[in-house]
Amino acid sequence: MYSDKLIASKNEMVSALQELIQIKSVKEEPSGESPFGLGIQNALDHILKIGDEMGFKTKNVDNYAGYIEFGEGKELLGILCHLDVVPEGEDWTHAPYGAEIVDGKMYGRGTLDNKGPAIASLYAMKALKDSGFKPNKRIRLILGTNEESGSACMAYYLKHEEKPTVAFSPDADFPVIHGEMGILVFALERDFVDSDPDGGIEILSLKGGNAPNMVPDYAEAKLLETKPIQDIVKAFNQTRGANIEYVKEGEFTYLKSHGVSAHGSTPEKGVNAISQLVCLLDLIDIQIGDQSNFIRFMASHIGMETDGKSMGVGFDDAYNHLVLNLGMIDLDQSHGKAVINIRYPITMKELKIKTSLDSTVRGSGIDITGFRGSDPLFFPPSHPLVKTLMDVYREKTGDLDAKPITIGGGTYARAIPNAVAFGALFPGAEDTMHQRDEAIVLDDLYKMSDIFALAIQRLAE
Ligand SMILES: [Zn+2]
Repeated sequence: MYSDKLIASKNEMVSALQELIQIKSVKEEPSGESPFGLGIQNALDHILKIGDEMGFKTKNVDNYAGYIEFGEGKELLGILCHLDVVPEGEDWTHAPYGAEIVDGKMYGRGTLDNKGPAIASLYAMKALKDSGFKPNKRIRLILGTNEESGSACMAYYLKHEEKPTVAFSPDADFPVIHGEMGILVFALERDFVDSDPDGGIEILSLKGGNAPNMVPDYAEAKLLETKPIQDIVKAFNQTRGANIEYVKEGEFTYLKSHGVSAHGSTPEKGVNAISQLVCLLDLIDIQIGDQSNFIRFMASHIGMETDGKSMGVGFDDAYNHLVLNLGMIDLDQSHGKAVINIRYPITMKELKIKTSLDSTVRGSGIDITGFRGSDPLFFPPSHPLVKTLMDVYREKTGDLDAKPITIGGGTYARAIPNAVAFGALFPGAEDTMHQRDEAIVLDDLYKMSDIFALAIQRLAE
């Protein structure tokens, strides 16, 4: 049985992870043959050396990626992990690259994301090998080095190396993520040519947001008040529960809208500061023309909605409903641009969303620009890969009611074909990825390694 072997190598697994955490593998400028810098290069070399010493076949793919392979067979089972980490940031109470163990937890950047799961996968392979297991497929631990900054590693790997027949990537949550929503980013844009000096309020600028995939928590408009609006702002705040400050400075009026930030895949959890401000401006007697048409379009087709209904894309399927986030706006008196992020249901096609958006903007003078997307990832729950991984998870955790999940975000599994995310964060475990004091509970490390070993065995026997 592989379990005894796994138990016997616990201490070795912990030491190997410590060594890997102590190599700071944050992306740096390219250096010689190292496209992402020397730190990442050293982390890759180090884990390949461990794989080598275990007796596995290893390969460094031109310092973009690497792999450690076990067994013989025509088909290839992939396990996709990454060795690069995000910068440590500040305010750690443990050394960020110290791999210190306190109360059964190892602290350090990359312990969860994603060096811990990489080491857990490697020791799962080792335990199977040591127990005499002979797989029917080759099992390849694929090690990326650039997941945190665009996954150029996997683009390179796919160009030069074999694609797995099936794969899982432990760079997200347990249990299995069998669906990831489609992602679209685009701008609504128009030049402002016509305006009518009708005595209405003049909007000099309207700005807000930092990224398409974040709910903006701040937006600001600068106005010339040709008639008083302070009472309208006050009433709006009261009746709509909004938080917009009215500030007068010399001849200018500033409307400062405060919202609540959230991730763009769950915009309903935030309060969109841009939307709030646009809805207020829609109630005000602003100067007629292209600019006001643009603002009124935004108010009537997005408003405070996050489900895309008034944009004509309020779609659902059996798993999810579409979500829309107005992430950024930048508008002056000659031009307006609003950037939108949509997550659409996993069984839908991008073309349908695009066609619906085109018909919504038709005749408004607004153009859709910078349209880019990432297709959904979808495996039916009945797919053998999903079924096997779920069975293993239920068996090992005793959580018999666990069901495969779908999410709005994108995981590393998208970087290669035929892959789903599987782990490695357990439900209810503290998620410290990308945060200060990132840490892995050692019992979780052993548990995930045990789960991966059984998963490999079932998928490759
Ligand atoms: Zn990651």
